[in-house]
Amino acid sequence: MVVTRFAPSPTGYLHIGGLRTALLCYLWARKNEGKFILRIEDTDQSRNSVEAAEAIVQAFKWLGLSHDGEIEYQSQRTNIYKRYIQKLLDEGKAYHCYMSKDELTALREEQMAKKERTMYDGRYRDFTGTPPEGVEPVVRIKAPLEGTITVKDGVKGDVVFDVKDILDDFIIARADGSPTYNFVVAIDDALMGINVVIRGDDHLSNTPKQMIVYEALGFDIPQFNHVPMIHNKEGKKLSKRDGATDVMAYKEMGYTPEALLNFLVRLGWSHGDQEIFSMEEMMEHFDPKDINRSASIYNAEKLDWLSAHYIKNMSNTKLAELLEDFGLVLSSHDKREILLDSFKDRAKTLKEMAELISEVLTSPVVYEEKAVVKGFKGDAFEILEAFAEKLKSSENLHLPVDYHHVMEELVAEKEIGFGKIGQPLRIALMGKLSGPGLDAVMSIIGKEETLSRIESAIKANS
Ligand code: GLU
Repeated sequence: MVVTRFAPSPTGYLHIGGLRTALLCYLWARKNEGKFILRIEDTDQSRNSVEAAEAIVQAFKWLGLSHDGEIEYQSQRTNIYKRYIQKLLDEGKAYHCYMSKDELTALREEQMAKKERTMYDGRYRDFTGTPPEGVEPVVRIKAPLEGTITVKDGVKGDVVFDVKDILDDFIIARADGSPTYNFVVAIDDALMGINVVIRGDDHLSNTPKQMIVYEALGFDIPQFNHVPMIHNKEGKKLSKRDGATDVMAYKEMGYTPEALLNFLVRLGWSHGDQEIFSMEEMMEHFDPKDINRSASIYNAEKLDWLSAHYIKNMSNTKLAELLEDFGLVLSSHDKREILLDSFKDRAKTLKEMAELISEVLTSPVVYEEKAVVKGFKGDAFEILEAFAEKLKSSENLHLPVDYHHVMEELVAEKEIGFGKIGQPLRIALMGKLSGPGLDAVMSIIGKEETLSRIESAIKANS
C-alpha cells in the first residue's frame, strides 16, 4: 500500500509551496488507494503546533483535501526517538561525543585555514577512555567514512553523494537529549510506513543523512521524489512578495479551490499539453515520475486564466452560493440566471465578479468624466428621453431580448446607428462605458430602475 505524508513545520498557515507538495502526496496516495498522513514537524517550536495544524486542516477542507488518521506531532514522540537513540548506542552504531564548543570552534578554524571542508573529525568515534568531566555529551551516529550514497530519486534519477564531501558523524541527539531533525524525520517516515516521499528538492541534501539512519536501524528506504522549487519570474525562490503565501488568502482573493489546485498541479508536473484538470483527472494521470526536473515558474496570469475558466463553467447555483462569501446575496433576485450568465465570462475571480455585479445592481453615483464627454454630447439626451418614452409604453419587458427590441425600434424610427443610443444609455445605467450587454443590464435591473437611472443621469449631467 502506498503511504505518503505531508510534513510541514508549524508556521501557522499553509503556504503555496507546501500545498503543492501536499497535493502531489495526496494525489498519489488516493490514486493508489493508499494513505496520506499529516505530520507536524514541531520538534523545534512546539508552542503553536495545534493551531498550525488546524490552519492546515482548515485549508485542506476548503480545497477538498483530507489526510488519514490522527495528525502526528513530532513533539509528542520524544520517547520513541529516545528509544532509537539508545538502541543505536547499545548496538555501537552511535556514540557519545564529549567535544566542547571551544574544541569544535578550534577544529573548524583549523579546517578553514587549511581550506578543508569543516566537519567533525570523529575523535570520539572509538573512544574508550574516561569521559572529560562537566561535559554533557551529544550523540553522534557512525556515518560511513568513505564511498558514496546514491539517492534513487523518482524525479532526478540517481543522485550520487560522495560521503567525503557531505557526511561526518552527525549529531542525532543534542546535549540536552533532544533528537535532531534528520534523525526524527527518518524515524517517523520509517515507523509510519511512509514508502513514497514527495517533497521539495531543498531537502535533497538531507536525504543521505536520513538514509544513514534508515540503514543503521535496518529500515526500508522509501522511494524519494524531490520536486524542484517554485520560482518567481525572475528565477528566484518564490517569496511572500510574489503572491500570497497563505493559501487561505487565495480564498479571500476570490479564487476557487479547483483553479488553485489545477494551477498548482501544473507547477512542476505535466501530462502532454493538457492544462485543465479536474480532481479526477489529476488523480488519473498523476505519477511522480512525470514531475519536471527543472524549477517551475509561478505565473499569476495563468492562475487568473484558470480561475476565469472555472468560474465560466460553474453552475449558477454553485456560483451564487460562493458569491455569498463576497457579500453578494442573490437568492431572491428574480433575474439571477441572466445576471450570472452575463457576468460569468467577465470575471477572473469570484471577488471581481461580486464587485461587477454589485456595480450593476446599484445606480451609479459618479459618471466617469471621460465617458460623459464622449457619450453625453449632441442630441444624446433627446435620444435617451425618446428611449425612456418608448420603454414607458412597452409592456412585458422581462428578458434581454425584450429590451433589445425596444432599442431596435428606436434605432429604426430615428434612423440612427446603435451606438447613438448604446453609448449614452450605457453611461446612464452604469456611469461608464464598459460592462456587460445593455439589454442584459436592463433586464436585470428592470424597467422602473432603468427609467430612474436615465432620469438621474440626465439631471446630474445637464
Ligand atoms: N518539515 C519540512 C518542511 O517543512 C519537510 C520535511 C520533509 O518533507 O521531509 O520543509
